[in-house]
Amino acid sequence: MPALVARQLRKTYKNGYEALKGVDLSVEEGDFFALLGPNGAGKSTLIGILTSLINKTSGSVEVFGHDLDREPETVKSLLGVVPQEFNFNLFLPVEEVVINQAGYFGIPRREARERAEYYLRKLELWDRRRSEMRLLSGGLKRRLMIARALVHRPRMLILDEPTAGVDIEIRRAMWDYLRELNAGGTTIILTTHYLEEAESLCRNIAIISRGSIEAVGETADLLSALDTETFVLNLKGRIAQLPELGGFVLESIDDSTLEVQINREHTINGLFDALSRNGIEVISMRNKQNRLEKLFLDMVDQERGRAP
Ligand code: ADP
Repeated sequence: MPALVARQLRKTYKNGYEALKGVDLSVEEGDFFALLGPNGAGKSTLIGILTSLINKTSGSVEVFGHDLDREPETVKSLLGVVPQEFNFNLFLPVEEVVINQAGYFGIPRREARERAEYYLRKLELWDRRRSEMRLLSGGLKRRLMIARALVHRPRMLILDEPTAGVDIEIRRAMWDYLRELNAGGTTIILTTHYLEEAESLCRNIAIISRGSIEAVGETADLLSALDTETFVLNLKGRIAQLPELGGFVLESIDDSTLEVQINREHTINGLFDALSRNGIEVISMRNKQNRLEKLFLDMVDQERGRAP
């Protein structure tokens, strides 16, 4: 059974902005899944709908076979949520934050205390259990939100930009813990605009841009699409037949235009040598960027722009 199925999800905000334009998404149980996209793509809106913080305009959501509209409480109990904003009482001691959350799910106080200790130790927050929330650094607050999200033992954990603004060392420690959780069977979905985060953590990725899913697939497959570049060549003469150029994938657009895919292992020099050997002369050439590639480049620019 899939952990999550979203069908034709749409969200139009009150001001008329269409943040989700009919999103279909399926996530298998046990998966570690990234919703990857640039800022403003609609990731938080999607997560907000899954976690009942935002009302959808239309479409449906099922979590482990339970419909969000018909069984909202069951869906809530199956999900642990780590939102982007710190949404708790800043004067509450760390331990209470977790114990109170267990209370919302009807867990008796004694057991709540035991679970709070377990997760606070796991997330290396036990020494800080009596500190007020407001005294924690950003990274520690984020870890506390993870502990809080886990205290009712959800089958699926959803994290919205879990490592935004978290320094590298803490980010790595969080990654390790998320991997451990996933290995223990918890399905994890996270949103991120860090390519590296999706690449190193997630088995599957959906790429979202402007409210639509642009691509879904295994991380390795999607990223290998970035390892080829396509060039469009305008030829001097006409060619009747596609030449065989070892290692290069050619396609003829018309009898004087070729498209060539170049794997990053090859060089453009190599391409031109091969063309010359076949008596093909090139007048001009341009790089044909596919949409996915453009999206990735925008994201990389964003990452660079945000780097400290
Ligand atoms: P992401 O999480 O991918 O950065 P969001 O889901 O936060 O994207 O936002 C998607 C788009 O919806 C953005 O253009 C954002 O400005 C817009 N948006 C988000 N919340 C609201 C709102 N409450 N009212 C109107 N527009 C919104």
